[in-house]
Amino acid sequence: MKAEIIAVGTELLLGQIANTNAQYLSQQLAEIGVNVYFHTVVGDNPDRLVQAIRQAETRADLLIFTGGLGPTQDDLTKEIVAKHLGKQLTTDEYAWKKIQEYFERTGRKMTPNNKKQADVIEGGKVLPNEHGMAPGIFLQNDSKYYMLLPGPPHEMKPMFRIYGREAILDQLEQQERIESRVLRFFNIGESQIAHELSDLIESQSNPTVAPLAGAGEVTIRITARHEQEVMAVSMLDDIEKRILERVGEYFYGYDDTSLMAELLKLLEERQLTIAAAESLTGGLFQSEMTSVVGVSTMLLGGIVCYSNKAKIKLCNVKPETIEKHGAVSEQCAAELASNVREALGADIGISFTGVAGPDSLEGHPAGTVWIGIAFKDQPAKALLAKMAGTRNGNRKRSVKMGCYHLLK
Ligand code: ATP
Ligand code: MG
Repeated sequence: MKAEIIAVGTELLLGQIANTNAQYLSQQLAEIGVNVYFHTVVGDNPDRLVQAIRQAETRADLLIFTGGLGPTQDDLTKEIVAKHLGKQLTTDEYAWKKIQEYFERTGRKMTPNNKKQADVIEGGKVLPNEHGMAPGIFLQNDSKYYMLLPGPPHEMKPMFRIYGREAILDQLEQQERIESRVLRFFNIGESQIAHELSDLIESQSNPTVAPLAGAGEVTIRITARHEQEVMAVSMLDDIEKRILERVGEYFYGYDDTSLMAELLKLLEERQLTIAAAESLTGGLFQSEMTSVVGVSTMLLGGIVCYSNKAKIKLCNVKPETIEKHGAVSEQCAAELASNVREALGADIGISFTGVAGPDSLEGHPAGTVWIGIAFKDQPAKALLAKMAGTRNGNRKRSVKMGCYHLLK
């Protein structure tokens, strides 16, 4: 299914507001495997709106309008679409009742054009507006679908999310099954993954491969359509395999998971315990871990060793290590991980020592982080990460990086 989003409103053309509705709808549609080929913006002008509709009908199966469902003179989307399709407008009784109640409750005076807000196009499905007056509409005419949504984002978004999406999915499911899954990656940039997968992303028909931006992580949604569900699933498996052949080393999980959730899953499966010594993360790793119920069998505890004194006195780091190599060093990270593991008798010790920023430290630029990892009966090691975020961004990323290294 190909979609075109038609945003109606002269204020968009004048640059008074940005077309964030189209952005939101495009993201939502990508998630359900509907390809958006065009964004159109047209003013509150009947002739030009009809022109836009005619053109969209030549290149899209689904036309989604936002704006112009309100009570004023310039709100003309419903009227124009109805006229264009040769359909009548009828009053949606539920919406009309809501409008009347609103005016009774607020004691405000109703004008005839307020009733216009409750109009819907005959034969269409009504999309309830839970945050405003004007309902949305979804209708099919010949082989085309039309969805009319209100302009204000706080009305449009929930309407689409709750009712609009379902209406489209219903139509798609009558034709074919849609299966989708999200693949989550870490430690690879968005542009790098897009580059590695460019041919798969660009072929964009069925299955679709859509990168989604996320907080310090890269996620890819793959979606496949087929009349038979098993076939759609097998198409997903195939495309997933092709993706992981190229960037599998950065892959860590599916759908709504997180690095911490995956780490806990692994610790639970293998029945392993962990202890942490945290300098720049100041307890963030343990705080994040303890936010999950039932970690007491895995997390034994740890220490916040922010100063060198704490590293030496509480974590037994050798003073020579800090004198010779500094606190931001491979040696210090390894000792911290090894000592905290030993102190608590855990299977794994992890440590974080580095420069959160904004200033540099010991001659290392902000974002230099050493993560120490010690497994029982193995020499401790430390891995260097270089980050370019804000102070707290670097601290959060360090925690993710720690989880990532333990998973790999
Ligand atoms: P209302 O009942 O509020 O008049 P409406 O459905 O008639 O709603 P418009 O009059 O076109 O919608 O727009 C109302 C407001 O919604 C605009 O002033 C603007 O703040 C916001 N809006 C409209 N279109 C968009 C858009 N494409 N992107 C973001 N915001 C928009
Ligand atoms: Mg309006």
